Amino acid sequence: MTTKSAAAAARATVYGYPRQGRNRELKKAVEGYWKGRVTADALRATAAELRRTNWLRLADAGIDEVPTGDFSYYDHVLDTTVMVGAIPERHRSAVTRDALDGYFAMARGTQEVAPLEMTKWFDTNYHYLVPELGPDTAFTADSAKQVGELKEALALGLTARPVLVGPVTYLLLAKPAPGVPADFDPLTLLDRLLPVYAEVLADLRAAGAEWVQLDEPALVQDRTPAELNAAERAYRDLGGLADRPKLLVASYFDRLGDALPMLAKAPVDGLALDFTGAAAANLDTLASVGGLPGKRLVAGVVNGRNVWVNDLAASLSTLGTLLGLADRVDVSASCSLLHVPLDTAAERDIEPQILRWLAFAEQKTAEVVTLARGLARGTDAIAADLAANRADLASRAHSPITRDQAVRARASAVTGADGRRSQSYSERAAAQRAHLRLPLLPTTTVGSFPQTGQLRAARADLRAGRIDTAGYEERIRAEIQEVISFQEKTGIDVLVHGEPERNDMVQYFAEQLTGYLATRHGWVQSYGTRYVRPPILAGDISRPEPMTVRWTTYAQSLTSRPVKGMLTGPVTMLAWSFVRDDQPLADTARQVALALRDEVNDLEAAGTSVIQVDEPALRETLPLRGADRAGYLDWATEAFRLTTSGVRPQTQIHTHMCYAEFGDIVQAIDDLDADVISLEAARSHMQVARELAAHGYPREAGPGVYDIHSPRVPSTDEAAELLRTGLRAIPAERLWVNPDCGLKTRAWPETRASLEHLVAAARTVRDEM
Ligand code: GLN
Ligand code: ZN
Repeated sequence: MTTKSAAAAARATVYGYPRQGRNRELKKAVEGYWKGRVTADALRATAAELRRTNWLRLADAGIDEVPTGDFSYYDHVLDTTVMVGAIPERHRSAVTRDALDGYFAMARGTQEVAPLEMTKWFDTNYHYLVPELGPDTAFTADSAKQVGELKEALALGLTARPVLVGPVTYLLLAKPAPGVPADFDPLTLLDRLLPVYAEVLADLRAAGAEWVQLDEPALVQDRTPAELNAAERAYRDLGGLADRPKLLVASYFDRLGDALPMLAKAPVDGLALDFTGAAAANLDTLASVGGLPGKRLVAGVVNGRNVWVNDLAASLSTLGTLLGLADRVDVSASCSLLHVPLDTAAERDIEPQILRWLAFAEQKTAEVVTLARGLARGTDAIAADLAANRADLASRAHSPITRDQAVRARASAVTGADGRRSQSYSERAAAQRAHLRLPLLPTTTVGSFPQTGQLRAARADLRAGRIDTAGYEERIRAEIQEVISFQEKTGIDVLVHGEPERNDMVQYFAEQLTGYLATRHGWVQSYGTRYVRPPILAGDISRPEPMTVRWTTYAQSLTSRPVKGMLTGPVTMLAWSFVRDDQPLADTARQVALALRDEVNDLEAAGTSVIQVDEPALRETLPLRGADRAGYLDWATEAFRLTTSGVRPQTQIHTHMCYAEFGDIVQAIDDLDADVISLEAARSHMQVARELAAHGYPREAGPGVYDIHSPRVPSTDEAAELLRTGLRAIPAERLWVNPDCGLKTRAWPETRASLEHLVAAARTVRDEM
């Protein structure tokens, strides 16, 4: 290989693109189809038009090879399930009746059948539908979607590369189907699955694909030797096929580690590797195995997960190093652009001086193209781009927004003692008991009450100018009044104000903190047709004014029972936002923590004696590689403690977590040093209570006894039984009674009934003691 020819051949590509369209056309068409307002043909036409528009945009921008098959009506892992014919038994008749309706039945369930389970796609906020497999699963190839989309792109005269979820990742993401023993390992199905991939690859080859990309992000997680062996076997088999396109094996989100030497030796034609963030370690590993002689390397140097302008000079230098390591080096984003919003140009409310720091999918595409051009033709060919980029980066680095000296001075003065309560847990517990005088098995809720149509209408009225701020706040106070009086009547011990003022638990705070940006059109897919607009942590964070104090004190003024203050914790604020890439996450977390600490202290000063700081995302931002976890948990728990440790011993700090199994983070939960934690537990029959007990968790806990994810009302007996189960793990003096999570997605009738049963259950069980 010669460096020069490798450079001259450099091409630009991406692995995937936002699906929904500029005006969220896909969401509207799919939801319209569900409601019967849009026909199947109209939905297909909208989808085809979106694909066409995206490909042409990519090609116009200078992308040499466009991805196909990344489009989805709902989720690309579900599409893969269809491609390999792994339709669960319970969905088969629906799929046979009508493929499209059957597809949505798997995604969302129907009156008769449950959907596939949904879970997070690695450490992103995208959710995929979990394949359900068992020893009886028979795979059959259905390449229609992949072949169809490839043909559409080829018909436009484009060079196209189908992108598939790779067979190893597909199996590693799967779970045992219902009724299959829990210890069934889907990876044992590999030999059955590979012929199906072989068939799809042959079909794609026949349809005109020169290259096909197989995504194997599961290989960036810690893998056992057996799993790595399976991957090696998979690519030996697929690489050995006679009738196949060239194979590009892609990974992203982290470094490949031991999987890299294995893939480098595999008989495939190219690797696509991530070189951003923690994945930058791929560079050293690649050099240490002698590069990829004879292979194509697609270098993911533009971060596909953040919203920041690329450092083009730094990326060019990485690319320059890579040139010596492969036969041909192409340029890409680090992962599919699915995880970023579409276009910064739509953001009219963000000042141009800040907007220039941002890059969404369109801008990232342009960066990839510029870098490929720079690599192929030399830096002179992109001199103007480099100069403009240098100016953008300098403007960001020197802005008072990213460099607030007061915030920085305060953050750097933080000492270990600042993150510690003044007394040990047992001393505090005694002070709190004396101060709060709660009954045994105290009842509470997790924070939000139903977000009614009226509340949403009030917010819409405020935005549209139909009511003013005073009118809006009047409506919020009326809602708080209702929530407080309901809780008093029901006999709940520690009340909440109900969070009626919150559009979203992160956005509400982001809007009030300096340094945070909100977008108007920055939608990213969370799952199916659900899109979110994560705020952007753009600068140094400070809190100009109290954010929740007036609502909590108003609520407290209506009752003599304690009202819990309610905040979103620093880790969750980061997890559900776009984070900075110009400083360690730990620094950003510390700034957010200090701003929240002021809020906690203000709440206490205003007379609040119970304050809850939610950290539902603590588990979900755990790094993919085990070796990185301790470092993460260190700063994450420190940020929580910094938020909550400024209060007096008798002030009770609560936290809340959900969405996860907690078994592997019990130590971290302990390290938060919160006085009380409420956790999701109803569906797992209080599993977490046993996990806390096994760890010797010394503090108070409220494993949920009411599953709020469903409109179903639990009976008093049911809740009491869960409580008794909880009591076998956690002593009565330390057990709380609460739902799994907030009630914002529930309606009032079921909320009322369920909470009445919850209080009745607590009374029943108290009487048994
Ligand atoms: N306090 C929040 C609520 O009740 C917690 C939400 C969450 O954990 N996701 O809505
Ligand atoms: Zn929750």
